[in-house]
Amino acid sequence: MQRCHGDPDCKGKNLPGELSCLAHAREATRSRYLDALVPGADVNHDGTVFDDPLLTALLRSLQDTSGRASFGTCSFRGTQFPDGASFEDALFGQKAVFDGASFGVVSFDGAAFREDAWFEGARFARDASFFGATFAKESQFSRASFECPIHFSSTSFV
Ligand SMILES: [Zn+2]
Repeated sequence: MQRCHGDPDCKGKNLPGELSCLAHAREATRSRYLDALVPGADVNHDGTVFDDPLLTALLRSLQDTSGRASFGTCSFRGTQFPDGASFEDALFGQKAVFDGASFGVVSFDGAAFREDAWFEGARFARDASFFGATFAKESQFSRASFECPIHFSSTSFV
């Protein structure tokens, strides 16, 4: 697999056909990628480090007509969200994989997982909220570590 050229230590998955991950892509490359996304698109950002503006830009590119971010199959294996990450009201229409991801403050309030949601080995460091989130299929939190308050109120699991 081609490694991200943006930083020798980066483990970020390269954008399709590119030599860098989303975080290290040049401005024009990043814009081209984000502009091509549509609601329900599949995304793979394994290992990428997302700061708040980058996540906001990704979510905005996936917004459907109701204003919520809509993912197809998404993969965030080992992805890092060191800042606040808000996936509020996001729709995960296909399998969502956050295995080994690490979060600072994160909110999945109101998020809907229509298919399997995997958080195996994910690390929640500061504050994690799943208020009103719905998991329609299998959800997997084994080996996840919660070093912070986690809020599952009104969350529905199958
Ligand atoms: Zn990178």
